[in-house]
Amino acid sequence: MRRLLCLCCLAGMLWARATGAQQIAITFDDLPSHGELPPNETRLLIASSILVTLKLERLPPVYGFFNGVKIEKEPATESVLKAWRDAGQPLGNHSWAHRDINDLSAAEFEAEIAKNEPLLKKYMNGEDWHWFRYPYLHEGDTLQKRRAVRSWLEQHGYRVAQVNMDFEDYLWNAPYARCVAKHDDAAIAKLHDSYLATADQFITVFREASRTVYGRDVKYVLLMHVGAFDARILPDLLALYRAKGFSFISLEEAENDPAYQDDPDIGSEQGGALLELMVQRRKLTFPPNSKPYKELENTCK
Ligand SMILES: [Zn+2]
Repeated sequence: MRRLLCLCCLAGMLWARATGAQQIAITFDDLPSHGELPPNETRLLIASSILVTLKLERLPPVYGFFNGVKIEKEPATESVLKAWRDAGQPLGNHSWAHRDINDLSAAEFEAEIAKNEPLLKKYMNGEDWHWFRYPYLHEGDTLQKRRAVRSWLEQHGYRVAQVNMDFEDYLWNAPYARCVAKHDDAAIAKLHDSYLATADQFITVFREASRTVYGRDVKYVLLMHVGAFDARILPDLLALYRAKGFSFISLEEAENDPAYQDDPDIGSEQGGALLELMVQRRKLTFPPNSKPYKELENTCK
């Protein structure tokens, strides 16, 4: 019997290794538009490219968090929300105008969330849309504000779409737009490599943070943005996660991990991913990391 159990354990371990023990949900922020637009590109082309990749890769539903103000300013971009829904992907609330909670009172910030709801209702058409992603991952510079908004969200039936895998993917979109305009393919190839190297580094960083806080891999949620370079590199990014042993799950599945019951309950001007805030809360050390800010700033200038 004991021998049989061990064989079962072994089979389980092999299965976990083969299928990927780590699980991650992909999410996109800032619909319908994010970052600089390269020549001959449109917001709808970018979103469509992302949607095609998600379908080809057979990913579970991927939330797109949007800001209604962009549609008010540029009505044609409403086609992005329509395309997202036509592809069977869900939408979530990212507040009306992407304003920073640090600059608003709790009541003003709550009004920003509520103002986005008519568009959510329209496009989710009877399906549940009560997921909220904080702009800039800022959840309140004071504890009082943080608690007030969280309690408002709870009263209004929202769940916070927490993030715990983030490498500032959006940093590559502006240099990419410049490089496309200059037809600099060599520089684009370098952007490709540095994007994937940084994504790879942050897999290690967040897994280490997860083991520091929880002693295990939590179910991860990756923050992405609907930018031109994000769309272009998405197939390679997903391949990287698969190669690193990840399989893809929905946001709901990820956030049902008990780790998401934790509330760091700290006021923080910088905010951050849940794991970053938990590390702060417990006075632990976040793993060292780096991003190529300077290099990206100077690329194709
Ligand atoms: Zn955002």
